[in-house]
Parts: sequence; structure tokens; C-alpha cells
Amino acid sequence: MEKLLEILNKSKLSKEDITYLLSENDVEKRAIIQKASASIISIIPKDYHSLEQRIDISNYCNADCLFCKSRNSNNKINRFRLNREEIIKKAIELHKNGCNSILLHSGYDNYYNTDRIAYIIYSIKQIAKIKIILSFGLRELEEYKEWKIAGADSYYLNIISKNNNLYNETNSWNSFENRVEHIAELKKLGYNVGSGSIIGLPNQTCSDLAEDIYFVKKLNLNYVDFCHFNSVRSVHDDIDSEEFIRRGIEVSQIVNADTNVRLNDLIN
Ligand code: SF4
Repeated sequence: MEKLLEILNKSKLSKEDITYLLSENDVEKRAIIQKASASIISIIPKDYHSLEQRIDISNYCNADCLFCKSRNSNNKINRFRLNREEIIKKAIELHKNGCNSILLHSGYDNYYNTDRIAYIIYSIKQIAKIKIILSFGLRELEEYKEWKIAGADSYYLNIISKNNNLYNETNSWNSFENRVEHIAELKKLGYNVGSGSIIGLPNQTCSDLAEDIYFVKKLNLNYVDFCHFNSVRSVHDDIDSEEFIRRGIEVSQIVNADTNVRLNDLIN
């Protein structure tokens, strides 16, 4: 118990501390970790994400990420694509209903090129005072620039996993290093930047996840959202995936005591 309390009292946790918090199986100690995480959430001031709504603008995607329903090779789903006017109308309606930030999301859909997305952002901003968060995966640096000029406020880009083997197994585009470079560029452009990794990947261990949590903290982001991966039941150091995901969020919240850590399903 002494070791646990000592870790929880630290202002900066090491990778080893994080691994310890993730892998501790004692029921009493888990309850203390859970309580420590909940007490942080209760004192974090609400930010503009508190009234956020998401608009999925398309589920067409050229990528083929592991187990994502929208992956290109999945011919068992119905595909949809909202047109520009539908997206703008939806954003305005959400704003009228009290929403103060919208997340525009899609996979890699060629139809939504730089100009079309810039047009949507600009049009929404002309009508509604609303924050616009983008989640379109890895795009060209010029595109991020155009969209910032058009009025976008924030960008979410998942790092997937710091472990190269796990990253490659997800079949995600490009590399972990490339994503980190893009996050740096997005910051330079003045975006509010959010990121996190995927929790619950097959074969992911407590130590792998601790590396991610530690790294994400070091990125010094505006917000932290991890993505859950529970489409496949798996065990991680003998912890089942549901419990592993729960622990990941709890511990990440303890590491990021100044921001509300959330769980999403934005793999890209
Ligand atoms: S996770 Fe995103 S980029 Fe990957 S297949 Fe799904 S929608 Fe496409």
C-alpha cells in the first residue's frame, strides 16, 4: 500500500509508476486508484468539449484499419456521405440547440478534399459562434493550414501506439513518427491539439500502454482522448480488455491531472 500511495502523491509519474498502476490487481488498491482518478475529474473545470457534438460526414474510407467497420475492404456496411449543405445545416441546428463545439469526422474520403472541407468550416463560422474540431486523420500539411485559415479551432489525431509492432498490426496509414510530426505541425499552426493512443489492441501489455500514456503526457496537448479497441475480446497481462480499457482511462486521468481524459472511437 505504501508504494501505491507514494506514486499517487507524485506530481510527475514515471513509466514504471504508470505500469504499476495499470497492472495492480489487488481489489483494495484498485479501488484507491479509481477514487484518485474520480477525484481529479470532479475538480477539473469544464472546457469547450463539455457541450461537444460529433458529425460523421462520411464513412467512405480508402484505408483498411484493422477491425474498423468503415475500412475499405468491408463490403457489408451501407456507405453514406453527407453533402456540404447537410453538414452546415446540421452544425447550425446543433448550435441553436446549445452545442458550443462540433467535431467533424470522417476517414480518408477523397471526395472531401481541401477546398470542400474549407468551404464547410468557413460557412459554419460565418453563421454560428461555434468551435470546430476536425478529425480527418493524417492529411497534407497544406490542408491543415487551409482549414485553420478557414476557421477551424482544433484537430484530433490519434498516435495509435508507440509500439511499432502494435502500430503495424493495426494496418493504420503511415507511422507513429509521422503522426507525432503532424501533431507538432498542427500545434505550430495554432490548432488546439488533442491526441491519445488506442487502448485494448490485441497483444498490448500494461507496459505498452504505460509507454503511450507517458508519451502522450510529454506531447503537452490541449486535450487527451484515448480510443477504445474492444471489437475483439483479448487479454492484456491477464487483464480482460474491458477492464484494461477502464484502467487505461483511470490511470491516464491521474497522469493528466489538469485535463478531462475521455474515451472515444476515433481510430484515425
Ligand atoms: S479507422 Fe479511420 S482511417 Fe482507418 S479505416 Fe476506419 S475510418 Fe478509415
